[in-house]
Amino acid sequence: MSTTPQAPAPGAPPDAKAALGWMHTARFLTTAAQLHQLPAIDVPEIAFVGRSNAGKSTCINTLAQQRQLAFASKKPGRTQHINLFALGRQGLMDAVLADLPGYGYAAVSRSDKERWQRVMLNYLISRQSLTAIVLLCDPRLGLTELDEALLNALRPRVEAGLKFLVLLTKADKLTRAEQAKALSITRLQAGGGEVRMFSALKRQGVDEVAQLLWQWAHPAQDAAADAAADAAAEAAAEAAAEAAAEAAPPPDSEPN
Ligand code: GDP
Repeated sequence: MSTTPQAPAPGAPPDAKAALGWMHTARFLTTAAQLHQLPAIDVPEIAFVGRSNAGKSTCINTLAQQRQLAFASKKPGRTQHINLFALGRQGLMDAVLADLPGYGYAAVSRSDKERWQRVMLNYLISRQSLTAIVLLCDPRLGLTELDEALLNALRPRVEAGLKFLVLLTKADKLTRAEQAKALSITRLQAGGGEVRMFSALKRQGVDEVAQLLWQWAHPAQDAAADAAADAAAEAAAEAAAEAAAEAAPPPDSEPN
């Protein structure tokens, strides 16, 4: 891209052009086969998960407007890895996308499947920087047992503030009536969070998802956070005053 759209203020809804400009900065950061090999990240991390063939790579590539980005995750040797992509202008990484391996692929051995489910659940439960999940689902199959298990594992984190979006992919394969039905069924099953239709082919939902991810990655400092910051500053000031009083000689002490 020759021009970078002006970044909106944190918390303010960005226009689609700004959000897509931000998504377009996505570049490969690192890959890891094990959770402990992932670097600690101090910016919001948004994970993309879903059954294999749900349309996850196509969705990431469409959002990033790059043909090959997430197909890096399909290279031999990387299909079972967690692949991280950095977002934000060069030198100013402000969010990370995590592309998790697709699950439920029939040709994978049972022991590999189990190993992967463990790595993925551990990631979802314990990854500190994880702030949001995008669960990709082919609406013609609906949420499967594995998708539901994943949502259940996530529930405590969702209750603690983790955001989640269920994206119903390949919307172009459904009529409008089928889309409406899929949306309402999935909303019931997902029990909270956002549910949206998405089609890479017809570019349905692309702008809205980019805008939502931008907002998730740049939350407004809300009143509670402000109050907590004020309280912390006050406590620090009090501690500093106490330390200073201890260091100084008492006012009535005799000079040596
Ligand atoms: P992944 O395994 O979840 O990464 O899935 P892919 O992104 O590789 O997509 C699986 C298949 O679905 C491929 O044949 C894609 O071309 C197709 N696909 C993905 N997104 C769409 C879409 O929006 N519309 C249609 N019609 N097909 C799609």
